[in-house]
Amino acid sequence: MTDLTSLTLAEARKGLDSKTFTSLELTDAHLKAIEEARALNAFVLETPDQARTMAREADAKITKGEGGPLAGIPLGIKDLFATKDVRTTACSKILGNFVPPYESTVTSQLWRDGAVMLGKLNNDEFAMGSSNETSCFGPVGNPWRREGSNTTLVPGGSSGGSASAVAALLCMGATATDTGGSIRQPAAFTATVGIKPTYGRCSRWGIVAFASSLDQAGPIARTTRDAAILLRSMAGHDPKDTTSVDIPVPDYEAAIGRSVKGMKIGIPREYRLDGMPAEIEKLWSEGAEWLKAAGAELVEVSLPHTKYALPAYYIVAPAEASSNLARYDGVRYGLRVPGKSIGELYENTRAEGFGAEVRRRVMIGTYVLSAGYYDAYYIRAQRVRTLIKKDFEDCFAKGVHAILTPATPSAAFGIGEKGGADPVEMYLNDIFTVTVNMAGLPGIAVPAGKDAQGLPLGLQLIGRPFDEETLFSLGEVIEQAAGRFTPVRWW
Ligand code: GLN
Repeated sequence: MTDLTSLTLAEARKGLDSKTFTSLELTDAHLKAIEEARALNAFVLETPDQARTMAREADAKITKGEGGPLAGIPLGIKDLFATKDVRTTACSKILGNFVPPYESTVTSQLWRDGAVMLGKLNNDEFAMGSSNETSCFGPVGNPWRREGSNTTLVPGGSSGGSASAVAALLCMGATATDTGGSIRQPAAFTATVGIKPTYGRCSRWGIVAFASSLDQAGPIARTTRDAAILLRSMAGHDPKDTTSVDIPVPDYEAAIGRSVKGMKIGIPREYRLDGMPAEIEKLWSEGAEWLKAAGAELVEVSLPHTKYALPAYYIVAPAEASSNLARYDGVRYGLRVPGKSIGELYENTRAEGFGAEVRRRVMIGTYVLSAGYYDAYYIRAQRVRTLIKKDFEDCFAKGVHAILTPATPSAAFGIGEKGGADPVEMYLNDIFTVTVNMAGLPGIAVPAGKDAQGLPLGLQLIGRPFDEETLFSLGEVIEQAAGRFTPVRWW
């Protein structure tokens, strides 16, 4: 039998249905792979007993012909999703050994459909970061290395554990979240597929909140088809999240292989940055050519407020974060560092519980929301956000179906290489992705090629609200043309 971990989710589903192997065998193969890959630090908690129990249950259901759409498929869960009776920390010291008494809506839908939980995946603390280096559990290794080099690279972030685990064949797919790029950037750094659906498509209930008006869950998988299968289970209306939208969830998988003939693809002028590496330029034109060859029409478009997206994001996101993170006070759950008064207890707990990047965001957020600065910063950033959204609306009103851009301005970099002295250097990673969150639109990152050092690069497709299907169709065209990319095992 071929190694079960190298199957795609769709292939595994077939094998399970035809009883070529059981979910327990598939799960055991992944648990073994996880054990052998501890050097990557992708998992912060392994749940083998629970995984085997869930796998046996799935096998029983499959035998009875009652298996759901994900019956027996082993997945990894970003540690930002609350999992009932299983430690959930957002990779922050402040949550300590918090064990939620409830399950997030997204994960509960995965279990409803028969998936198996392998464990919890590493991420940047409270999902703040682009390299997974802010996690209290330490950095994650990217399974990809530069040709001829032993330097361990970051897998991107904040969903670094999810991307690394999927790329290293430790799970068949993973949950992730994206506030400014945290699904798409790590996907691009690891040659995996990541989709951030439209804001409101997946319930945020039970996901540790970072910036509530931007946060959105989505899958990271090895193919566009696998991502489509996962998103169908993750998406849907939830009365417990008032921003979740009550429109039917389509069969996303049906969009795979659908013709893209006649689709208008926008190429935004403003994404052509000064000093952009020639390899990224080349990848972008190649991607456009592939879509053209499949019958799509390319049109140059303008998104004039693009350059304000990153600065506006770094006002809106910290503002919301400072408000969301006010709940971590050491009183009801998580870490508690005592003090002589309740005020001191708060101060001590928060000073010790939050890492440097989180403290920076809380301070920026508090500052931009404070009396006297609120109008100058926060209100202004919200106005800019409206303009960014309008840029996209204008573009779609002209008949554009989707917009093609690079996913990231560079390939993966080394651990400790970026953002040490200047945090903005790290923030620039999200230059192509934050606009999409600011506008609430869906965006997919698909592996499209490699740089001169052999590292994967991704392209991004941005779609109309709730038109994830078009992104899957176009994404698959790129995937077919570019081929699949697998890292050489070193761990
Ligand atoms: N890198 C961005 C940030 O640190 C986005 C993170 C995310 O999408 N969660 O805010």
